[in-house]
Amino acid sequence: MVPVIALVGRPNVGKSTMFNRLTKSRDAIVAEYSGLTRDRQYGEAKWQGRTYILIDTGGLSGDEEGIDAKMAEQSLQAIEEADAVLFLVDSRDGLTPTDQMIGEHLRKRNKRCFVLANKVDTVDPEIARAEFSPLGLGDALPVSAAHGRGIQAMLEAALGVFPRDEVEEPEDVEPAAGDGQPRRTPGPDEKDGIKIAIIGRPNVGKSTLVNRMLGEDRVIVYDQAGTTRDSIYIPFERGDEKYTLIDTAGVRRRGKIFEAVEKFSVVKTLQAIQDANVVVFVMDAREGVVEHDLNLLGFVLETGRALVIALNKWDGMQPGERDYVKTELERRLFFVNFADVHFISALHGTGVGHLYKSVQAAFTSAVTRWPTNRLTQILEDAVQEHQPPLVNGRRIKLRYAHLGGANPPLIVIHGNQVEAVPKSYSRYLENTYRRVLKLVGTPIRIEYKGGE
Ligand code: GDP
Ligand code: GDP
Repeated sequence: MVPVIALVGRPNVGKSTMFNRLTKSRDAIVAEYSGLTRDRQYGEAKWQGRTYILIDTGGLSGDEEGIDAKMAEQSLQAIEEADAVLFLVDSRDGLTPTDQMIGEHLRKRNKRCFVLANKVDTVDPEIARAEFSPLGLGDALPVSAAHGRGIQAMLEAALGVFPRDEVEEPEDVEPAAGDGQPRRTPGPDEKDGIKIAIIGRPNVGKSTLVNRMLGEDRVIVYDQAGTTRDSIYIPFERGDEKYTLIDTAGVRRRGKIFEAVEKFSVVKTLQAIQDANVVVFVMDAREGVVEHDLNLLGFVLETGRALVIALNKWDGMQPGERDYVKTELERRLFFVNFADVHFISALHGTGVGHLYKSVQAAFTSAVTRWPTNRLTQILEDAVQEHQPPLVNGRRIKLRYAHLGGANPPLIVIHGNQVEAVPKSYSRYLENTYRRVLKLVGTPIRIEYKGGE
């Protein structure tokens, strides 16, 4: 399971600055497509071969009411479920009553917790350290989110205890000899089949959908192989295909009926996305696309998981409302336009069976091993059609391509002056690969390797 780190602190201590610094690399990709950075509260980040999930819990000020209270509730829950908490305080302001209140909460919860004395560029680190020792949470680590100071030591402290990611794919595969035909690798998870996470905001119909999927006559549900954390992993078979459903709604079997027993959890949701091959993203057609949907989808895109979108509660909607929802989808979900969209009713079962076809197609697209000669041929054809631009009078040369990873497919392109390849040209290559290889339901990543 990918570790979860929560950023906590009152407003203006530097949480978003820290969040942006730690998730920076991926941010760029997501922001470019969706314009989501401003309000994003969670992201995927990497440090020394370890992937982790970072949550900005939002400013806790201690006097939340109304909608703020709801936010604070999710924040507190995230703290509860996180593996470690980074508690930011402001060295320039010194220790405040709100800091003390938050500190007390953390001390009571007995959380793995690190006090970060931020903005240490403005004061003596030793003074900052002394200032915050009354919190009783150990020595504060002096950091500067804005200037990048103390970050490595902080990550070592917070993440050093977690094992590195298992390397799923070789970085550089030998150019495959062969017939140009794709091969589907049995990934490490073949025994679980396709891992599908059912994701969505509270009340969009996740548990109803899980029930519907597992309750179908043609579905054989196996005993749970064991649960990890809070999400429930339910192996089942349908036709010749094996699946494992990762259920974030906490549906439990009671005889023949499955019933939901848990409430929505951001941490659980993010981890389920991380752990899935394919995310079935459920939205409520009656509410349209809301901010929280976009945030979650931004995270799905960041992780590179395959994606199928289900617009639920399609039953009983007026034609005018349906048209409106469809227009909204096109306008606001263009950044995930590679995903199939289904209009379903989990309650009545309409359209639910069709989800599987998209799930399978997305999975196949995400994990197929394309041989080097095929990828290189597509590259050559694309370059012939449209030359990359000249840089300082020399043309960028793209020589060959190979697959560097799966789920999402990573296409590694070797050439000269690759650092100068414009984004628009990368987009062109990505679209070409998508079209020629008929890839659906998965993002594609393109990476360049230079050298003469
Ligand atoms: P948040 O409300 O906790 O998310 O705080 P922000 O990240 O928005 O930061 C609040 C203000 O503090 C902004 O003006 C930042 O530029 C500034 N800030 C953040 N980190 C640092 C730092 O390391 N040094 C200094 N001097 N300013 C910082
Ligand atoms: P969850 O919180 O995402 O697991 O949502 P639930 O499955 O608990 O559903 C929330 C509410 O929406 C319940 O009252 C369901 O009966 C209702 N609901 C779920 N799916 C549908 C649907 O397809 N159509 C309609 N009309 N209601 C639905």
